Amino acid sequence: MKNLPLVCTKCGKSFRMENLQYRCDLCNEPLEVELLTCGKISDGNLLTQTMLERYAEFLPFASLDRDISLGEGFTPLIQSESLAEKLGIGELYLKNEAQNPTWSFKDRGTVAGVQHARKLGYKRIGTVSTGNMASSVAAYARKAGMEAFIFVSKNIAAEKINPIAIYNPHLIRVDGDYGNLYYESLKIGQTNQIYFINSDATFRIEGSKTIAFEICEQLHFDMPDYVIIPTSAGGNLRGIEKGFREFHACGLIENVPKIICAQASGCSPICNAFHAKQEEVSRVLDPHTIAHGIENPFPPSGNQTLRLLKRTGGFAVAVPDDATIKAQAMLAEIGLFVQPESAVPIAAIQKLRSENYLTGKEKIVSIITGSGLKFTEALTHHTLTSVECKLEDISRYIRDNFDQ
Ligand SMILES: *Cc1c(COP(=O)(O)O)cnc(C)c1O
Ligand SMILES: [Zn+2]
Repeated sequence: MKNLPLVCTKCGKSFRMENLQYRCDLCNEPLEVELLTCGKISDGNLLTQTMLERYAEFLPFASLDRDISLGEGFTPLIQSESLAEKLGIGELYLKNEAQNPTWSFKDRGTVAGVQHARKLGYKRIGTVSTGNMASSVAAYARKAGMEAFIFVSKNIAAEKINPIAIYNPHLIRVDGDYGNLYYESLKIGQTNQIYFINSDATFRIEGSKTIAFEICEQLHFDMPDYVIIPTSAGGNLRGIEKGFREFHACGLIENVPKIICAQASGCSPICNAFHAKQEEVSRVLDPHTIAHGIENPFPPSGNQTLRLLKRTGGFAVAVPDDATIKAQAMLAEIGLFVQPESAVPIAAIQKLRSENYLTGKEKIVSIITGSGLKFTEALTHHTLTSVECKLEDISRYIRDNFDQ
């Protein structure tokens, strides 16, 4: 490991990176690796180097284990003029994280967490999740030859558990307060030598930074005005923001884009606290949204996300599910079938534009966090059509129904 301290995001107390500690023992807020202030992007061929290798100077590892990579990162940044026009903004870019090995951005943080776990000598990793993070951790455990302990809730549906189970982790359906399991897992990990790579684990955030690094390279270091992120625990948002801040501190970019935290109205603890000007998030009592990946009622990095938005001039916004479904259809119209979570920012841009928070000239990057195939139940909310036609009638059917 490089000789960098971990610092508390609230009080600034420092901790040693060699110890596995996630949260401050004084204020119970998450820790982060101290900000890097110099570094350069590695030369090399994108077809042969790994994501961690390319950005090695901006990551806390002194050396990298190559054999744990599944080819994460290096995802496309797609510009859509037609959707930008429809939304009434200047430029829109979509960072398509669905093109990761387990079809969500979680792989970036998982690979960084596994690097750290290996360096500390752990043979077991774990996570608390019923969705993308669980399959990501289970997959990378297999690649790295480690044991995975995945804690899911007791009544998880077969559709959700099977894509995790296929990697054959130790899959534990927990009978008890699932809401508290994040904190409990950190203690269980300590007792049982399991390195938990939960949603906002310090090294998961180091992995998420690479989303910002790639956006900088893909935009030739000409920064957007905003980056909009569907947010649950706050880990990804923290990572992306830290990535921009570090590139800025290292002199690679001149300004840092503002961050917009997008949530679903049925579960928007960060957005609620932001607009009520509170310093801490309160638990949402009856969370409900079709965007299950952003349904954390009491986000462990919620307070830090609030501090960060306040410090950087960011913003928070929440949208109802019907707007999210419409936005999912709008993305499909430009060829992208995304998870409902990833349509939330598009609905949020529409809302911010209609409220004139956005004036129409902005250049915005929206993060597509996961693939539409992860949650096919959402398809039942769309009007999807097809026609039946006899083989010999197909040409006539086309002639009669479509322009020549
Ligand atoms: C995990 C996840 C999120 C939320 O990320 P956080 O780091 O928990 O804020 C958003 N979208 C998808 C598809 C996810 O899997
Ligand atoms: Zn502290």
